[in-house]
Amino acid sequence: MQPDVITLDGPAASGKSSVARLVAARLGRTYVNTGNMYRAMTWAVLAQGVDPANPESVRAAAAAVQLDSPVADGQTQVRVDGRVLTTDDLNSDAVNAGVSLVARVPEVRERLVSDQRALVALGPLVMEGRDIGSVVFPDSRLKFYIDASEEVRAARRRAQGHADQVAERDRLDSTRKSSPLVVPEGAQVIDNSHLTLEQAVEVVLAGVAERLA
Ligand code: C5P
Repeated sequence: MQPDVITLDGPAASGKSSVARLVAARLGRTYVNTGNMYRAMTWAVLAQGVDPANPESVRAAAAAVQLDSPVADGQTQVRVDGRVLTTDDLNSDAVNAGVSLVARVPEVRERLVSDQRALVALGPLVMEGRDIGSVVFPDSRLKFYIDASEEVRAARRRAQGHADQVAERDRLDSTRKSSPLVVPEGAQVIDNSHLTLEQAVEVVLAGVAERLA
């Protein structure tokens, strides 16, 4: 059976989270931000005093972390060892700097991919990330890849008050061995550099309607 998941992949700060959240709200689907699951794992690893650049230590520390995804207001949250993490927890400078290092550890990916697949039990989803159409749900018919120029993405991050190096995160995400960022087979590619949020949402909704027709 085909999973009922709209997948949205793309590089950091391409605008995909805003698009995904609105598409989910318009269609009455649950919104899942998988970047927050990798961020939560990074937060938990850092809380144990582990260096994210050391894959052996990350693997051991991550194995002990309890992570789940309760739904509130139409979207999943991330709960680590019983505590729901805040936006500030998930977007701290330390997490921004460490997340792509934690996300390249294969055991971390296997665990979170399996958790992400299990979320279909919640009903129809909009799930965004880096490998959702390529690895997590390759059989979805509703795949999108949201791109934007590096200048536009760096400006968006600055406007959000995040000083992290978007280009460095993309380099790590695109070159890692385990499920690198790629345009998934069959995905509709949307260049979001010069679209308003509303226009980008409309493009996705039109793509969904066309594929379901
Ligand atoms: O989406 P966001 O920028 O918050 O993701 C943070 C990081 O999590 C990414 O830079 C990437 O390293 C990792 N990630 C991933 N696979 C996903 C989602 C995020 O590797 N599906």
